Formats: sequence, structure tokens, C-alpha cells
Amino acid sequence: MEATNVRATPEEPVRLLVFGRQGAGKGTQAVRLAERYGVPHISTGDMLRAAVKEGTEFGRQAKAIMDAGGLVSDEIMLGIISERLALPDAAAGWLLDGFPRTEQQAKDLVALVGEGNIDLAVDLEVPEDVVVERISSRRVCSTCGAIYSVGSPPSQPWVCDKCGGEVVQRDDDTEDAVRKRLALYSEQTVPAVRWFDTLGLLVTIDGVGDLDSVTADLVAAIDARVG
Ligand code: ADP
Repeated sequence: MEATNVRATPEEPVRLLVFGRQGAGKGTQAVRLAERYGVPHISTGDMLRAAVKEGTEFGRQAKAIMDAGGLVSDEIMLGIISERLALPDAAAGWLLDGFPRTEQQAKDLVALVGEGNIDLAVDLEVPEDVVVERISSRRVCSTCGAIYSVGSPPSQPWVCDKCGGEVVQRDDDTEDAVRKRLALYSEQTVPAVRWFDTLGLLVTIDGVGDLDSVTADLVAAIDARVG
């Protein structure tokens, strides 16, 4: 991946968390920010979908939970994220997308990496009626996770521009599962977001608007903290 590292001292790692309810544009913006800051994009949703594809016993259990719009246990998620952050590329910083998702996961992450080793958490704010509409038109590459939509499809019908994989609707983007995930976000993830606010690590960004201007707002907020 071509990454433009804009930091004055690139040897210093940047460590970012991206929050946002389903359909806020979190995944799309997370990919852009990881490229910009030259850090791995660590998406727990992508990692779980990869496990599902591998067809392991764990993958089968995860699929049932995800398709129903539920959450994988905090204990399992901590194991997955600890292993991922121990890989060599994460020594140069990271961007977490989809973790932490509960207050317990937030506390587990801070215990794992240390409070001083998180530069900033950004929360992409988008009203619920806007996100329901966005999710129903969302399509993803089943191979690399690239995100498209009905209004912004790949150049050839439904073949991923990035890897040639098949672009599909996610099994958990059905209306029932989406409603459940949005409710769980309010119940479980909002307290985690608030907790980072109490630590003075949170910036809230308006996620309504075109993708480029949202990216610009995110970059301005992050640069003000780490630049
Ligand atoms: P979305 O934010 O649209 O729900 P993700 O790709 O981030 O999509 O996650 C998809 C699903 O994977 C979640 O609905 C949940 O079942 C599971 N998942 C991802 N991250 C976590 C996590 N940190 N804790 C528990 N479950 C998770």
C-alpha cells in the first residue's frame, strides 16, 4: 500500500481509535486515515469476516453472532487484538476500527497499551435516520473489505476495483440485524466513547457531508493532536 506519512517525525508511532455508529462512514474514513498516517488499519470486523471465510470452528461461531447483529465476547476480542498489536507492523503505530466496542474493551485496551499510548479517539457523528439509509445501500468486497454503495459502485458490476473480488451486501446488513446493531451501539459503545472523553482523548467530528470534507476535518483534528 502506498502510504503518505505526513508526520514530522515518522519514527514516532501514531495510535488512533475511530468510533462511529454503523453507516457513519467509519470504515471508509479509517482506510483513508491509516494510509495518510502510514499505520496499519486494524478492523476487527474485517478480521472476524476473514475468520468466517476460513471456515474454522471459531469462524462459524462468529458468523452466527455477527449475522444476528450481536457482539463477540470481550474476552475473545481482547485475545484477537492483543495478538494483532503484537505483530511487527503495529510497532510503528496503528488505527483501530471497530475496537473497543464496549466499556470493558476500552478498559482492556488501555490496560494493554497504556493510556499515554493512545493519541486520539475520533467519533464520527451521523444521525440515525441517515445511517439506516446508508447501510441499506452499502456493498463490500468479500475478499478485501473495500466499501462501495449502490450509488457509488465499482467500475464493473460487482467486481472490486482494488482486488477483483466479488462485491456483495454483507449478511449482517439486513434491516433486523442493522436495527439490533444500532441499539447495541447506543447501549454498549456510547459508554466506551464517553469514557475516552473523560480521559481527554476524544474529538467528535460531524460525519454528514461529502467524504473528502469529512476526511479533511478528521485530519485537521488529528494533526492538531499529533502533528
Ligand atoms: P459495523 O460497525 O457496521 O457493525 P464491523 O465490520 O465493525 O461493522 O463489525 C461487524 C460485526 O463484527 C459486529 O456487528 C460484531 O458482531 C462483530 N465485531 C466487530 N468488532 C467487534 C468488537 N470489538 N467486539 C465485539 N464484536 C465485534
